[in-house]
Amino acid sequence: MSTHTPTPPGGTRPPPSDASTPRGVLLKGIAGSPGVAVGPALVVGDTKAAYARRHVSSTQIEAETARLRQAVEEARRRVREVSAKLPSGPLETNAILDAYLTMIGDPMLLDRVERKIRDERKCAEWAVAQACEEIGKMFGPADAADRDAYIVERRHDIEFVCDRLLRELTGDTKQIVPRLDQPMVVVARDLSPADTAAMVREPVIAFVTEIGTRTSHTAIMARALEIPAVVGAGDALSIVRTGDTVVVDGLRGEIVVNPSEMTVEEARSRGARHLAFARGLLSARNQPCVTRDGEPVSLKANVELPAEAILALDHGAEGIGLYRTEFIYIDRTTMPSETEQYELYRAVVEAVAPRPVTLRTFDIGGDKFASSFQLPAEMNPALGLRAVRLALSRPEVFLTQLRAMVRASAHGDLRIMVPMVASVQELREVRRLLGRAMQEVDAAGHKRSRHIPLGIMIEVPSAVVMADVLAREAEFFSIGTNDLIQYTLAIDRGNRSLAPLASPFHPAILRMIRQVARAASVHQVPVALCGAMASDPLAAVLLVGLGLRELSMEAAAIPEIKEALRRVSTAECERAAEAALALDTADSVEEAVAGMFAPTLYDLLTGTAEEGTYGAAADDTDVRGMMHTIPDHEE
Ligand code: PEP
Ligand code: MG
Repeated sequence: MSTHTPTPPGGTRPPPSDASTPRGVLLKGIAGSPGVAVGPALVVGDTKAAYARRHVSSTQIEAETARLRQAVEEARRRVREVSAKLPSGPLETNAILDAYLTMIGDPMLLDRVERKIRDERKCAEWAVAQACEEIGKMFGPADAADRDAYIVERRHDIEFVCDRLLRELTGDTKQIVPRLDQPMVVVARDLSPADTAAMVREPVIAFVTEIGTRTSHTAIMARALEIPAVVGAGDALSIVRTGDTVVVDGLRGEIVVNPSEMTVEEARSRGARHLAFARGLLSARNQPCVTRDGEPVSLKANVELPAEAILALDHGAEGIGLYRTEFIYIDRTTMPSETEQYELYRAVVEAVAPRPVTLRTFDIGGDKFASSFQLPAEMNPALGLRAVRLALSRPEVFLTQLRAMVRASAHGDLRIMVPMVASVQELREVRRLLGRAMQEVDAAGHKRSRHIPLGIMIEVPSAVVMADVLAREAEFFSIGTNDLIQYTLAIDRGNRSLAPLASPFHPAILRMIRQVARAASVHQVPVALCGAMASDPLAAVLLVGLGLRELSMEAAAIPEIKEALRRVSTAECERAAEAALALDTADSVEEAVAGMFAPTLYDLLTGTAEEGTYGAAADDTDVRGMMHTIPDHEE
């Protein structure tokens, strides 16, 4: 297990001057999907369709608009075709394709394009390209270095939609990846969800993309399809050539181009160990989550799309601890109706019943942009009109959501959670509106559960300080460390260069968690934690030591966290928490906890079924490095 290839300064080498790539070039990227693959590369060029800018005459407007509509239909048909060919199973891939389908037919986009054809007399291709560019700009400048991963991905989505429509309009509809006659590693600048899905039937053994993050669609789909992927590998296209042998290490986020035989051998055995490890974890998913001494810890899932609810159950979730509803409001210009929302919430509640589902009221604003709200530009959106503040300033929109949730409560165990509560007044106001929503639902003759627990996210420092007061009125707490870290350490959660400082092991964060856990225990209020911290095995053991017995995380992390907690005792977790609270820096906490648990959790920390000790691993495997690629959104 060594990094046997020379790492050139900056992680990459300049393109070679002769035709062949030198041996053993190491490229660094982001671990997008775990696993290790070795094989020949297929380099896929830029996917942009070329088109001519033409003006159309007034008599051609109708024909041009019809051409646009036909292209939209064709594009949607093609995506549906790809979707139908997918093997049944990885629901995340279908959910992504569904969203892509909706985006292709989005009325906001098509209205804009049609106006350009009609009013500006532009040909359909030109109108599509311009409209997509304008929508992309609504997400802010493209070149800002420290952009939030979520926004970057939404901008890519628009680019993919644009490219798909242009390809239909220009007749350039060949698949960007040709049929493969042997297992290959696909290397591209970026891949659209449809391109990624279209390759499922091809013998693609790994993906490498130049751009993208852990939350990019290529990464999400590759994880769902269990294909190793490295994304964000900056110079891949200028270094890798078709036919080069490449090692794609989706555990370390590395690619080795033209590796030595020894490197290939090591990569193969590392890949085999990872497979054995992943299969072992998944097969144990239905085991109860109890610590070695029998203390139960409830593991739930964070989800955004109804289809993910099933995925969560497949991974052994005991319910949905956080359903982020803001996605219902995103990528559209009109507000979702009560009935539309009710159907969505009901689908999730029914899919998960009798297990509980915690629906979070919309957390729009800050890093979560929604055009339907037409929010004013703010200097500091994270400190602006966001989440519960926005909800209370738009009571009619908020009441619509509350009524939809109240109606869905008739179908299972539903709880409502309010994001970003900073004062008890906000909670009181939400409770009052919830009461009104219940009355309105009753008056309309709909069924509902008699009691719907109303809880809050603890993700603002003031809520931590006031936790004892809030505990008298909230029926449950869920600690949102993604934002709590941002607001406590004053680090923008989307700022990648500061990300290493935004550590969940910071003693200030640990003290806050302990304070909230204590206040909740005194007032007998259930308390969970749903930030990305919960999906880190070392952090999870600390959280149990700090008194938490419920964690909610991305579904894929549940088997791993369950396995970690089954191997440790509460006494060990408590000792680790005590030791951590006595330390003064995030690094010393992380090091101490890693030192205590790495021998027990080594395979979980490195992602391979392999014996070892932390000390031995530290030389060549960054045991913590891979844990801390937790993306910001999920995160
Ligand atoms: C959090 O802030 O930790 C959280 C779970 O919410 P979100 O990531 O959606 O802001
Ligand atoms: Mg949050």
